Amino acid sequence: MKLKYEREQVVHFCKELVNKNLTTGTGGNISVFNREQGLFALSPSGMDYFIMDDEDVVVLDLDGNIVDGSLKPSVELDLHRVMYAGREDINAVVHAHSVYATTLAVLRLGVPACHYLIGFCGRDVRCTEYVDFGTSDLAEVAFEGMKDRYGVLLGNHGLLAGGADISYAFSAAEELEFVCQVYYRAKCIGEPILLSDENMTSALAKFKGYGQKKLMK
Ligand code: 13P
Ligand code: ZN
Repeated sequence: MKLKYEREQVVHFCKELVNKNLTTGTGGNISVFNREQGLFALSPSGMDYFIMDDEDVVVLDLDGNIVDGSLKPSVELDLHRVMYAGREDINAVVHAHSVYATTLAVLRLGVPACHYLIGFCGRDVRCTEYVDFGTSDLAEVAFEGMKDRYGVLLGNHGLLAGGADISYAFSAAEELEFVCQVYYRAKCIGEPILLSDENMTSALAKFKGYGQKKLMK
């Protein structure tokens, strides 16, 4: 079986998507890239994460050809593929329909530096325009939106996060959802006070001291 380890990671973190309330039903998708082999393991389309096992995960090359697996891959395969083809710093991608990120995405609001944990994704996070799900156009817009960042909100759709490995990408997704929730709640009762560039520089430096490998400068 190709990419057994990466497939196991996809299975584990897809369940975590539901366990951590980051998505409902079969929404969202996860992939892990093996850069040496030029192949990535991607969750299958529309499959219950709690009956999925590693054989159900689909292995693709960077042209989008299936090289192992018998199920239909996620409709968002381009969303994952373009990140591995165009970003050397990204080896795992998490897409979710978490409630607060999606709420801001419906309002087409990006996320400013209202809490230092935005630093998992960058100094702030953009929101893209709406593009049909499962299209190469969405992949293109998401790639642009995530430039110099590890996260982006997809207009009227959800969130996308990436990282050097799946642990980082998943944490970036979780922390982005947390900051979206805090930002939304703060905006409900007042005007959030934002952190300065200086505050964020200092926070990002502290993150590095705590062993976080890949944070934006
Ligand atoms: P898949 O089940 O095909 O991965 O699609 C879910 C999704 O989130 C589409 O954007
Ligand atoms: Zn989606």
